[in-house]
Amino acid sequence: MHAFAFVRPADTAAAVASAAQANTAQQGADVRFVAGGTTLLDLMKLNVETPARVIDINRLPLNQIEVTPDGGLKIGATVRNTDLAHHPTVQRDYAVLSQALLAGASAQLRNMATTAGNLLQRTRCVYFRDTAMPCNKRDPGTGCPAITGTNRTLAVLGTSAHCIATHPSDMCVAMVALEATIHVQGPQGTRAIPVGDFHLLPGSTPHRETVLEPGDLITHVTLPPPVVGSRQVYLKLRDRASYEFALASAAVVLTVAGGHVTRVRVALGGVGTKPWRSPEAEAALVGQPTNQAHFRTAAEAALRDAQPQSENAFKIELATRCLTHALQLATA
Ligand SMILES: Cc1cc2nc3c(=O)[nH]c(=O)nc-3n(C[C@H](O)[C@H](O)[C@H](O)COP(=O)(O)OP(=O)(O)OC[C@H]3O[C@@H](n4cnc5c(N)ncnc54)[C@H](O)[C@@H]3O)c2cc1C
Ligand code: SF4
Repeated sequence: MHAFAFVRPADTAAAVASAAQANTAQQGADVRFVAGGTTLLDLMKLNVETPARVIDINRLPLNQIEVTPDGGLKIGATVRNTDLAHHPTVQRDYAVLSQALLAGASAQLRNMATTAGNLLQRTRCVYFRDTAMPCNKRDPGTGCPAITGTNRTLAVLGTSAHCIATHPSDMCVAMVALEATIHVQGPQGTRAIPVGDFHLLPGSTPHRETVLEPGDLITHVTLPPPVVGSRQVYLKLRDRASYEFALASAAVVLTVAGGHVTRVRVALGGVGTKPWRSPEAEAALVGQPTNQAHFRTAAEAALRDAQPQSENAFKIELATRCLTHALQLATA
């Protein structure tokens, strides 16, 4: 690993000031925060990330889970994935988030991984992680070998001619279905970003993955008050039963009255270049009876714009079945 300076700021303002000197908050950043380190240190060992300065945020007071005055939930940036998954309020009111977290990685990794770090984890595309290969995301303008190469696990929604990498997070998919808000403290002050606006599509700039700018520190995430009577499911399909990323996943938050769907939020994982909300599936479900035919129609709507690559066309049917089954589980 290359040499770097390691700093421990006294408070969030000092952390932001230190990081504000960075050239970018995107790929190639010369300054990085570190939380659990389970993404960053991996990529530093591979020379995919080569920051000159690493700012340890683990001593900052960002590790609390609190109910907000409006009845929602405030989740600190350094809350560990394990603590969040097992928090009684999360298990009771935001079950889809608990399920998604527990479907991710391994127990040891979840003990280290944090809320903000999970939001900012990087793609598992093999070319991105191999500095001997070209990759537009890691090294803009060098090309995307995945399009003609190994792409079985990569995305079918939101892709571009420049990048087809999948966003690998489970937690983010649940947060999209829960309509979370990301709170950032930056050099210009604080701001709140809806999770759906936080991650960027690759377009012609796949090295830009989020709206973060130099110095931006995620301080916490908020969830709106729980939807009364909602049924919540996270279903993850993968090559083996645990310790594996999603080939396809679905997060569903759904309310039913009189046998009909009255409100629903749908998000997909494993198939999109960002955690994928599906307004198409939601529109196809609201007002409809809770039966398999309507669930299948909605799932097909979610995948209608999918663009398969040479090895991953199977994901379209897999994700369709995944969402159909998640809806069945939520209404069983
Ligand atoms: C073997 C393996 C298997 C995995 N399997 C899964 C899986 O199945 N599903 C899944 O969802 N994930 C999986 N993961 C990914 C894992 O969830 C992430 O690595 C983890 O969530 C990252 O959190 P962290 O705190 O360790 O991040 P770090 O590595 O500390 O940081 C990641 C990035 O976030 C930035 N950052 C951290 N905190 C902040 C902040 N507060 N403000 C601004 N920037 C910040 C860092 O600068 C860095 O760029 C796996 C990881 C590994 C290594
Ligand atoms: S899919 Fe994206 S991350 Fe993978 S090689 Fe292409 S540009 Fe790089």
